[in-house]
Parts: sequence; C-alpha cells; structure tokens
Amino acid sequence: MRTKIGQSGMVEVDGPPSSPRRRRRPRLRSVVVTGGAGYIGSHTVLQLLLGGYKVAVIDNLDNSAAIAINRVRELAGDHGPNLTFHQMDLRDKPALEGLFASTKFGAVIHFAGLKAVGESVKKPMMYYDNNLIGTIILLEVMAAHGCKKLVFSSSATVYGWPKVVPCTEEFPIAAANPYGRSKLFIEEICRDIYQSDNEWKIILLRYFNPVGAHPSGYIGEDPRGIPNNLMPFVQQVAVGRRPALTVFGTDYSTEDGTGVRDYIHVVDLADGHIAALNKLSDASIGCEVYNLGTGKGTSVLEMVAAFEKASGKKIPLIYAGRRPGDVEIVYASTEKAERELNWKAKYGIEEMCRDQWNWANKNPYGYEPQDHTT
Ligand code: NAD
Ligand code: UDP
Repeated sequence: MRTKIGQSGMVEVDGPPSSPRRRRRPRLRSVVVTGGAGYIGSHTVLQLLLGGYKVAVIDNLDNSAAIAINRVRELAGDHGPNLTFHQMDLRDKPALEGLFASTKFGAVIHFAGLKAVGESVKKPMMYYDNNLIGTIILLEVMAAHGCKKLVFSSSATVYGWPKVVPCTEEFPIAAANPYGRSKLFIEEICRDIYQSDNEWKIILLRYFNPVGAHPSGYIGEDPRGIPNNLMPFVQQVAVGRRPALTVFGTDYSTEDGTGVRDYIHVVDLADGHIAALNKLSDASIGCEVYNLGTGKGTSVLEMVAAFEKASGKKIPLIYAGRRPGDVEIVYASTEKAERELNWKAKYGIEEMCRDQWNWANKNPYGYEPQDHTT
C-alpha cells in the first residue's frame, strides 16, 4: 500500500483494488495500539485507519503529544472517527481492564515503552518498571479478555555486535544495556507464554533504524531534549536548533570509517505492522520473529550527505571518538519478512531524507510551536 497527498490535501491510498494485498485484507477489526501517540505508533495508526481498521490508542503521553493523535485523525479523513484515544499508563491495570471490558479487540500492537539507551543505563529500574511491568500487565489483561494476538516492537539492538551481516532472525541474541535487555526479556516472555498456551499468536518485530516522516510533513519524530539518534539530531542542526552534528567514531572498519546502519522509512515500517497483523490470522503462526529493515547498510557520512542533498542545508560536523556501546555495522536480512509477511520496504534513503526534511522544515520545533531545545 502506498499513500499520497491528493489534490484535496487528504491522504489517498493507491494500488489496484485487485492487488493481492487488497484481496487478502481481513475484515474490519478493532485493534489496540499502545504507544500510538509516539513516533512509530502514530504512523502505524494512520496506516491502520487507512486500511480500514478501528484503532484504540493507549498512551500516557510520557514521550509524545496529544496533537499527534489529532493530526493522525485529520490525515485519515473519513476514517478519522475510527480512532479513539485513551490517555492511560499500561501499569494502571484497572484502567486497562476497563478498556478491554468495554470493547472486544482482535489484536494489540504494543509500541509503548521507554527507549533511550543512555537513560536506561542511568535509571535501569525505571526501564524495567515501565517496559517489563507495563508489558506483563498488558499481557495479563489481554489473556483475561480472550485477546491473544500480539505484535511487539522489538529491536535490532538484540543482535548486539553481530559476527557477520546481514542479521538473520536465527542469530543469537544478547543485550548490552537495560533498554536492550527489556526487549530481550519481553521476547522471552512472549515465547514462554506461547509455550504455555498456544492460543496465543505473537509476532516480534525487530526494527532496524526508523527514520523519515509521513510524506505530508504533518506527523514525524519529535524527541524530548537532546536527540540520541542520528537523524533527529541532523534535522535539528538543519533548522538551526543545534550548531553541529558530532560524528561518533571515524575508525570503524567501514568504507568511510563511520558506523553503518540499516535505515528504514517509518511509513514502510508502519506498513510492516499491517503485514504482521494479516499474518496473525494464519493458523500456522505461533510466536515468530521478523526483521523489519531494508537489507542495505548506510554510513553516518552517507546519511548526512543524503540529507544535505534533500534539504539544501549544510550540516557542520565535529569528528569525535566512538560512542560507548555502539556497534560497527548492522543491517538486516529481509528474506524472512519478504517471504512470510509478503512485505518489503519501498523507500530508499533519498525518500527518507526528503520526508525527514519536509517534516523538519514545516515543524522546526516539532509539535510544539515554541523552542523546547535543551
Ligand atoms: P516513542 O517514544 O516515540 O513512542 C513510545 C510511546 O509509548 C510514547 O508515546 C510514550 O508516551 C508511550 N509510553 C511509554 N511508556 C508508556 C506506558 N507505560 N504506558 C503508556 N504509554 C507509554 O518511541 P518510538 O520510536 O515510536 O518507538 C516505539 C517502540 O519501538 C518502542 O517500544 C521502542 O523501544 C521500539 N523501537 C524503536 C526504535 C527507534 O529507533 N525509534 C528502534 C527499535 C525499536
Ligand atoms: N551517531 C552519530 N552522532 C549522533 C548520533 C548517532 O554519529 O549524534 C551515529 C552512531 O554512532 C551510529 C549511527 O549514527 O553509528 C546511528 O546511531 P543511532 O543512535 O541513530 O542508532 P543506533 O546506534 O541505536 O543503531
């Protein structure tokens, strides 16, 4: 599925009505999306609505803004009324119980969690409390209400420093920090739950590096404080919020010495969730893992050059040593997702940078009009 902004300004979904994906689309279903106000969640909620799903978003707005939900609703046009927003924390079990008691949901896509690696090292208990306890409570409430279909946001971080690339789903998994361990533990919890009760159908999606924004420039990533990730930082340099990008590490065994990652357009990633939801209807699925990446590695300097080209802005660079805990080269094997989910990323780094810049240019301070740079 591909979205574009039509002459009316509305998002249109194109692709021939007789395409295989269209024919296989399940009947309209109600889906819970935890963390749906966040970066990946908001893009996924939009694709779900456009695909005919009813979506109940749960988010405590700890790292997001309610305005993102309003914008998703607007972008969804006629589908907008199929979105409901529930500001709640996953650890608030009575509130969660109330929601699941009020509606029969077909599945849950679980994005909600804290995700800053450095912060997780300083505040491990906060990460375990939020990510692990939140997930356990969610799983308990789902089971109690007979909703046993789950798509979970895992991460390529579980591959650690891989011995070879591309990373296949069979690689051993490890974690180097509490954030990564929370992903690894949740993956294991999901495998255990399925072993104990094979009514569960669970897909663990290991994301590589999501970047870019919806082509409308109306929703995108809006990190609080100093961005940890490369592209949000680059974007803030481009709009004048920060003077220069610090390049962490120039002595890796890569072509230009900088770290290599598998960047994936957030709309492609969002579509990967629709493919995963469709897969949950397969009788054969138990607890499965899929990589969501492009299968291509791009260095920091290549990414900066692509962004400069897309934006026409010069990004001043400061070369520095390696960032502790960083790995050299990581990119995905995409074969399993292509074969079993019938999903493949469509966009390259040119489109990722174009859409990242479009979002940044239209919303230099993110969802809040005033400067909250710190
Ligand atoms: P995000 O911070 O933008 O979105 C997460 C959302 O979850 C936020 O809106 C936050 O307010 C909400 N949330 C957090 N804890 C909650 C709780 N206890 N109850 C209710 N809501 C809660 O992050 P994102 O980039 O959209 O990432 C989504 C998921 O994907 C996360 O689980 C993250 O770990 C995972 N992931 C992200 C990346 C990435 O680079 N962005 C890579 C791999 C995996
Ligand atoms: N990076 C960088 N400067 C920054 C942020 C990131 O040079 O301000 C580099 C980082 O060292 C890595 C790549 O960009 O090689 C991607 O980093 P990011 O944090 O976005 O993703 P992750 O390392 O978690 O895959």
